[in-house]
Amino acid sequence: MMIPEFDHPTFRLAVAQFDQAAEAMDLHPDLRERLKTPQRALTVSLPIRMDDGTVKVFIGYRVQHDSARGPSKGGIRYHQDINLGEIAALAMWMTWKTALVGVPYGGAKGGVKVNASTLSMRELERLTRRYAAEIFPLIGPDKDIPATDIGTNSQVMAWIMDTYSQQVGYAVPGAVTGKPLSIGGSLGREEATGRGVVNVTLEAMRHLGIELDKTSVVVQGFGNVGSHTARIMHEVGAKVIGVSDFSGGLYNPHGLDIPRLLQHTQHGLPVTESRLGEVITNEELLTLDCTVLIPAAISEQITKHNASNLRCRILTEAANGPTTIEADDILRDRGIFIIPDILANSGGVIVSYFEWVQDVQRFFWKEEDIRQRLREIITTAFHRTLLFAQAKKTTMRMAALMHGINQVAQAHTVRGLYP
Ligand code: GLU
Repeated sequence: MMIPEFDHPTFRLAVAQFDQAAEAMDLHPDLRERLKTPQRALTVSLPIRMDDGTVKVFIGYRVQHDSARGPSKGGIRYHQDINLGEIAALAMWMTWKTALVGVPYGGAKGGVKVNASTLSMRELERLTRRYAAEIFPLIGPDKDIPATDIGTNSQVMAWIMDTYSQQVGYAVPGAVTGKPLSIGGSLGREEATGRGVVNVTLEAMRHLGIELDKTSVVVQGFGNVGSHTARIMHEVGAKVIGVSDFSGGLYNPHGLDIPRLLQHTQHGLPVTESRLGEVITNEELLTLDCTVLIPAAISEQITKHNASNLRCRILTEAANGPTTIEADDILRDRGIFIIPDILANSGGVIVSYFEWVQDVQRFFWKEEDIRQRLREIITTAFHRTLLFAQAKKTTMRMAALMHGINQVAQAHTVRGLYP
């Protein structure tokens, strides 16, 4: 049964995935209902004084899907198209993701319905501080810890940390992750999702017997996740032949000059204006002949309309929910090896966990320790998922979901039902 409060295509996708996994693992019906229903959801209105003196009201959300295994955790998204159902879906995925990789958190997500690029810095700061103040009753280092996501960055996290700290009267670095280093951020956090994406992709290539020097990579999206993924892929020796951003795609069959492209985009310029390759459409990008395709943008990009045309060997889901249920079936039948989102993009929350641990302990680690521990955790999760998929004769997605859901189900079972 669909909960009408959260009805949205992305929530339907998350629930459909959950139902498939719950069926395959024969999960008890009582638990199925509990785990499908987000634990807590808050909608807030954010009246903001704009620079021209007028007042505009924005809508913000924070959804805590589950906290049986620990404080809930998840990013904050600034995007003009979000709503409660989409945020709830993303919160649910955070629950399975943290459980799958074994970090002691539940799942949450938040967001503000806004196109942040239309705001001035002062407007963005006022909006962020008001949002942080409105969700203040829900968040905190032992309750629910926000982080970066699409449209937010370390400066936004700094304002949230400051607003939280002003309310309680002392600095609380552990209240958010993805912060600047000067207030308790962690080395390696910004690149963490991209580095994790590369770690698991290299493991998949080893498993499939694909050699690095024969590998071509296509990355959809050139935000924090996509750009670091492309950079690290290039650094390890793979040929990145296609990338894209909001302006369209860029293709160079000989391999894009990623360092030069990064210099170009650092000035806020679109990839299509770099003259480093041929300009193509988003649709053409997704169907390029390549070894690894990495969607690193928004959800529902690979659908029943283009799944049959994909020409990759490995699909590494750096974005959350990039593949629809129908596309999933098509890709399985075509034998494309999928590294599912909750595994592929878990590097972000893994290093968020390191950041929070460092903040709480007031003891900071070296970057090489962070990279090594990230690699250890994410590659262990990859092999655990692969072994489980092989043993159960199921897909990597089902194996990842079943393992994650099982961890959460166990926590609920031993904690029991209150009251
Ligand atoms: N927004 C990221 C994600 O979707 C990171 C969340 C976090 O670090 O808490 O996984």
